[in-house]
Amino acid sequence: MSGAGLFDLTGRTALVTGCRTGLGLGIAEALAEAGADIVGLGSSPMPEAEARITGLGRRFKAVTADLSEPHDFKALIAGIEADFGAIDILVNNSGIIRRNDVLEFSEQDWDQVMTVNLKSLFFLSQAVAASMVARGAAGRIISIASLLSFQGGIRVPSYTASKHGVAGLTKLLANELAGRGITVNAIAPGYMETDNTAALRADPVRQRQILDRIPAGRWGLPGDMATAALFLASPASGYVTGTVIPVDGGWLAR
Ligand code: NAD
Repeated sequence: MSGAGLFDLTGRTALVTGCRTGLGLGIAEALAEAGADIVGLGSSPMPEAEARITGLGRRFKAVTADLSEPHDFKALIAGIEADFGAIDILVNNSGIIRRNDVLEFSEQDWDQVMTVNLKSLFFLSQAVAASMVARGAAGRIISIASLLSFQGGIRVPSYTASKHGVAGLTKLLANELAGRGITVNAIAPGYMETDNTAALRADPVRQRQILDRIPAGRWGLPGDMATAALFLASPASGYVTGTVIPVDGGWLAR
């Protein structure tokens, strides 16, 4: 296989969590441009994702599920697959952040972040992988990690713990699923312009501190990392598994 075929997702279906906005929307669009149909899973409606995906001539299905709540993920996936078709690619993108000083940080802010960012990510991956294994199908699992999968951060203890967990789970899932033809990787975005970073960008001091430290000299955009997701979802990356790929304008190199 060569050229565009290495990045062709025609006939594939991708489930992307949290594709209402930001990075998830950019990823869903990139996968659809490469030919994939998209299932968007999120806690609220995602009309913009539906308009953009169907505008590209691909099918789109919205599934409402709040990932801060417990779910029977195996039943959820079985229902989606019965209605829309088998899932070939899972993108665990949904994520939340809570900011407070270590000395003030609440148990609620710990539990909510850990549930959305880590517990639900694991059990959703388990459910999708179980279906792939039962079908004997090759598949792709891609999770959105963070620079805080590598660094400590400030005032975001549950976020840092969850994203370190995402990096570890990526490696564990890759080890157990490689022999089944399923690759498992993560992407660590740098500082990207989305709702997730609106508070940071609104603070002139933090905004300047962050910008001054990014070798590329600008914040990232959803399109900057959607191409990394396309690579990990496509035939081009068949021998890549268990990695966390930074897309950070050089932040970690500094
Ligand atoms: P965002 O706030 O625009 O998107 C987060 C998405 O998660 C939204 O679509 C939202 O609907 C969904 N979501 C939130 N709570 C949910 C819940 N309870 N159930 C289901 N879905 C839920 O922010 P973003 O920056 O696009 O974040 C996407 C991912 O990228 C997150 O995992 C985030 O941690 C990660 N990330 C972002 C940055 C950045 O700079 N923006 C950096 C590193 C990592």
